[in-house]
Amino acid sequence: MTEQSEVIRQQTGEANSMGSVQIVTTILAAAITAVAVWLAVRAVLKMVAVIRLGQPAPERFSDRVARARTMLVETAGHTRMLKWGVVGAAHWFVMVGFVVLSLLVLEAYFEVGTTDGGLPIIGHWTIFGLVTEIIGVLSLVGILVLMAIRLRNRPTRPGGRSRFTGSTMWQGYFVEWIVLLVLIFGFVIRGFKVATDHFEFPFWATPVSHAVGVVLPDWADGVSVAAAIKIIISMTWLIVISLNVTMGVAWHRFLAFPNIFFKREPVKPAGSGLGALRPMTSQGKPLDFEEADPEKDQFGVAHVEQFTWKGLLDFSTCTECGRCQSQCPAWNTGKPLSPKLLILSLRDHAYAKAPYLLAGGGKDLTGEEKATQAQLAHLDVLALAEADKPLIGTAEEGGVIDPDVLWSCTTCGACVEQCPVDIEHVDHIVDMRRYQVLIESSFPSEAGVMLRNLENKGNPWGAPQNTREDWTKGLDFEVPRVGEVDDFEYLFWVGCAGAFEDRAKKTTRAVATLLNEAGVKFAILGEGETCSGDPARRIGNEFVFQMLAQQNVETLNEAFEGREKAKRKIVATCPHCFNTLGNEYGQLGGEFEVVHHTQLLAHLVSTGKLTPVQPVDGGVTYHDPCYLGRHNRVFAAPREVLGDAIAGDLTEMPRNSERSFCCGAGGARMWMEEKIGKRINVDRVEEAMATGAKTVAVGCPFCSTMLSDGVNGKGAGEQVEVIDVATVLLRSVKPEQPQGGKETAPIGG
Ligand code: SF4
Ligand code: SF4
Repeated sequence: MTEQSEVIRQQTGEANSMGSVQIVTTILAAAITAVAVWLAVRAVLKMVAVIRLGQPAPERFSDRVARARTMLVETAGHTRMLKWGVVGAAHWFVMVGFVVLSLLVLEAYFEVGTTDGGLPIIGHWTIFGLVTEIIGVLSLVGILVLMAIRLRNRPTRPGGRSRFTGSTMWQGYFVEWIVLLVLIFGFVIRGFKVATDHFEFPFWATPVSHAVGVVLPDWADGVSVAAAIKIIISMTWLIVISLNVTMGVAWHRFLAFPNIFFKREPVKPAGSGLGALRPMTSQGKPLDFEEADPEKDQFGVAHVEQFTWKGLLDFSTCTECGRCQSQCPAWNTGKPLSPKLLILSLRDHAYAKAPYLLAGGGKDLTGEEKATQAQLAHLDVLALAEADKPLIGTAEEGGVIDPDVLWSCTTCGACVEQCPVDIEHVDHIVDMRRYQVLIESSFPSEAGVMLRNLENKGNPWGAPQNTREDWTKGLDFEVPRVGEVDDFEYLFWVGCAGAFEDRAKKTTRAVATLLNEAGVKFAILGEGETCSGDPARRIGNEFVFQMLAQQNVETLNEAFEGREKAKRKIVATCPHCFNTLGNEYGQLGGEFEVVHHTQLLAHLVSTGKLTPVQPVDGGVTYHDPCYLGRHNRVFAAPREVLGDAIAGDLTEMPRNSERSFCCGAGGARMWMEEKIGKRINVDRVEEAMATGAKTVAVGCPFCSTMLSDGVNGKGAGEQVEVIDVATVLLRSVKPEQPQGGKETAPIGG
C-alpha cells in the first residue's frame, strides 16, 4: 500500500461509515443481483438442457490440449475477427474490456456500501488502476466504433444490402448501450473518488478518471450512487439476456468458448468445418450402408433434435453478426438462402420446440410419437404447434427451412470461413439434404439424371466408361496406365470432367504434357477410375457416395499396394476430386498424399523442371475455386505458376483468396437449374471482366464451365478467355504447342 493511499485512508476514516444512502444503494444492488443471478442460473440450465437434446458427438472430445490451445488463440488473439480490420480490433478491445472490467463491476459491490471502497488487495495497486484505465478508454473507443458500424450498416438505411438484415437489431443496440453505460459509470465512480479526495491512483496512471473528477461535484455519496447505477445497469443486462436465451449477440460472450473448443478440427487454424464433410452418423457412430437400417438408424436430419449437441450449440452461439450472409453467393444473388437466417431459424425452432422434447415428446425413426398423452397434457400450445412443423417445408406447409433455401447452397464454405465463432453451416445443410434425398427422395428433379448416371455409369454425364481415355488421343507421347508401369511417382487422377468434358479435357492434356515435359513419372487408372463421389455426397446421397468411394479406395489401394502413405501420391486437376480423395477417403480406409496440379506445377517450375519462356500477356486474373482455396487453403500455388508464366502482375479481383466468390457449381449445383435471382456465374464474370484482364485463369473444371458460360452469355467470348492455370503455363513453356483454341465448348462427352 502506498504512503499516499494510507494518508487518504486516514483522512477518510469517518467517510467509511454506512449512511442512509449507502443502506439504500446496498439493498438495491443486492436485490437486483439476487434476481439476476437466479434468472441467469435458470437460463443456463435451460440452455444446457436444450443443447443436450442433440445427438452424441464423441469425436468432439478428442485432442483436448489442441482444442484448448486453439480456443485460447482464437479468442484471446481474435484471429478470426481480425480479418475484418477495424471491426475486429474494436471488438477485441470490447472483449478484453468485458473480461478485465468485470473486475470493476465486482469492485462496485465494495463501493456501493462505502464512499471509498475498492477491490481488496489488487484494487489498491497502481498497476491495476493503470491497466483498467487504459482498457476502459480503449473499450470505450471500441464500443463507439462498433455502434457506428452497426448504425452505418443498419438494414433500414437507404440503398445497399446489409449484413444485419434479419438480425434482431434491438438486441444489438441494447448490448452496445449497456456496455457503453457500464464503461461510462466506471469513470464516473472514479471521478467521484477524485472529486471527494478518495482516489488513490496518481494522475499519470489514471488521467481520464482525474479529468472526470474535475467536472464532478464534491458529493460524498456520489461513489455509492454511481456504483449502484453501474450494478443496476449490469444486472439489467443479465436479467434481459436470461429472459432471452436465444439472444446470441449477448450469449456468445460465454458460448463462443465451448463452441470453438468443440469445433470439428481443432488443429486447423481456419475453416475447421471445411474440406471433408462429417460422415453420416447415427447415435454418434458413422453409418455403414451395408448394415444401416432406416427404421433403426438415423439417416441425416429430419427433426431439429437429430442434429448433434454441437449443432445445437452452434445455433445457440450465433451472434447474428451477418458476416456469413455478407459473403454468401446465394444471398448476394437474390436467392432465399442466408446462412445466418438459416442458423437463426434452426435456433428459434429448437428453443421453441424444446419444452415438447423435454417433456418426452419426439418422433421415433418410424414416425411414431414417443410421448404419452399424459406427458404432453400440460404443454404450451405454442410448443406443440412448433413440434408439428416440418423441418424442411414451404411457407404454406409451415416449414422451418424452405426447400429453396436448402437447395440454393453451393457448399462454397464462405460462411464457415467468415464465422467468428466457428459455426459449421455446411455440415448442417448437408445433414438436412441427406434425409431429404435418402428418405424422402425430395430434391430438385433435374439432379436425378446426374444421380442415376453416377449409379449406372460411374460419372455424372452418363458417358460410356470405355471413352475415359479418349483425351489421350493425339498426344505425341504415351500416357502410361497403372498396371502397365509400376515405378510411377504420381497417379494422375483425371476425374470425370477431365475425361469427358471438352474444356476440361484440354486441361487434362495440358497437365499430362507438362508432366511429360518435366520428366515426372506418372500413370493413370484409365477405365479403372470412376467418379470420386463428390456430387453425390454434396447433394446428400451418402449411399451413392459410399458406393463410388469404396470402389475407388479399393482400386487405389491396389494401385499403391506395398507403398507407405508418403509414396501413395496422387495429382488431381479437379479440386472436388482433390478434396474428396485427400480429405474424405480416409473415412473409408484410403490414405493418400493428394496434390492439386497447380501445386505440382508450381514445384516443377520452382525446381527448374519446367521453364516458362514466353510470358502470356493481355492481363490475367485468377478465380479461386472454393474447393481448392477456402476448403483446402491452396491460394499461393496457382498464383506462383501464373506469376512465372504471365507478363506483368496478376490482376486480382476484389473478392479473392479466402473471400473469393463461388462460380455457382459446387454442392452439386452444377446439375441443378438456377431459377431464382441473378446467376452466380454471371455475377462472378462481371467482377472478372471489370478487371480488364483478357484471361480469366481457373483451377477447376466446373469453374471453367461456369465462367466460360458466363462470359459467353455476356457476348464477350471473343474478348475474354477462361482457361486453366495449366494451359496458361503450357502456353508459356511450349508456345509452339497447338493450344486448340478457346475453351468455349459446351458440356458433353
Ligand atoms: S456454403 Fe456458400 S452458398 Fe452455402 S450457405 Fe455458406 S456461403 Fe452460402
Ligand atoms: S458469421 Fe457466424 S456468428 Fe455471424 S451471423 Fe453468421 S453464423 Fe452467426
